[in-house]
Amino acid sequence: MSLNVASDRCLNFSAGPAALPLPVLEQVQSELVSAPGCGASILEISHRSKQFKEILADAEERLRDLLAIPANYRVLFLQGGARLQFSMVPMNLLGADSHAAYLLSGSWGKKGLEQAKKVGATEIVWDGADTNYDRLPTDSEWSVDPKAAYLHITSNETIQGVQFAKDPTVANDVPLVCDSSSDLLFRPVDVGQYGLIYACAQKNAGPAGVTLVIIREDLLERSQASLPGYLNYSEHAKEKSLYNTPPTFAIYVMGLVARWLQEEVGGLARMHERNLAKAKLLYDVIDESPDFYAGHAQPADRSLMNVTFRLPSDELQAEFLAEAASHNMSGLAGHRSVGGIRASIYNAMPHANVETLRELMVDFRSRKAS
Ligand code: PMP
Repeated sequence: MSLNVASDRCLNFSAGPAALPLPVLEQVQSELVSAPGCGASILEISHRSKQFKEILADAEERLRDLLAIPANYRVLFLQGGARLQFSMVPMNLLGADSHAAYLLSGSWGKKGLEQAKKVGATEIVWDGADTNYDRLPTDSEWSVDPKAAYLHITSNETIQGVQFAKDPTVANDVPLVCDSSSDLLFRPVDVGQYGLIYACAQKNAGPAGVTLVIIREDLLERSQASLPGYLNYSEHAKEKSLYNTPPTFAIYVMGLVARWLQEEVGGLARMHERNLAKAKLLYDVIDESPDFYAGHAQPADRSLMNVTFRLPSDELQAEFLAEAASHNMSGLAGHRSVGGIRASIYNAMPHANVETLRELMVDFRSRKAS
């Protein structure tokens, strides 16, 4: 097979921190030493300066526009990654007299539950462990107690490659809390269906260091004043994400990614079309030869972000990874906990790079399949 690699950048299939849009990196590069109107680098200015406040407001406005975030939701730019949200969510929302419901569709949901258990009472409404987290439940397989403080889901399980294709609806008024760390901004979502959405940025939305929390205003009232300041959502909302020094550079880059989505992609509906087309390139190869490329996720619940599959033997898997590396492709080894291959093809992954991986898969199969 012939490869056409336009630059010295590799074809980066990393699960995160992951590829960023090239125009964003180029803009960062051109503005790094002296940002327009700053006379200094973004890295050097105060988080309370007029210039940074404009950057923060601009990032929020663009995210509000892209996701059509209703006015009664607050957008918080925090730190500590999604892992800190595993604790902050129950610390703020749970309360002593209630319990939290968790739907477990993979490794990250389980890790979220582990932290919630340290804070208060929990209940598992569904657990995909029986089939090794290869699918999501049907509506009739689970229900949530109306007295639950919230229901927690993981919209995209990054390790198993299982993803909700549409916004789940909860039959009662239990607030839906969603860990959207590995798919925020991959399609339009109906934010009004959720009580709280959180996401670390380093997969689909920007660089590591900033964690986005979108929270319905009435839920802020649940945060007790006795919580340590940084762990209290209402403190962050009151201070408009300037409770302490926020990750200024990461917020700036996240704003540029949002602008790229608006101006170069044309919004999240267009982004979704692109993501569907990219994922189809790989899933078609898997479907043509399930005995050679065995997809992990059931077709209906396949992730558009993380395509997970295995080859017939560990030896063939190692050979495949070595050939991919020799063709300048990186980040394709599955998560250390499950093995196999994982191609992470987030928003910023160019279609052409996925085509190159597809070509390798087809070519490798034609040489190795018995
Ligand atoms: N949730 C999901 C779905 C993830 O993919 C990850 C990171 N891989 C996390 C949570 C943890 O994020 P962080 O490392 O930013 O805490």
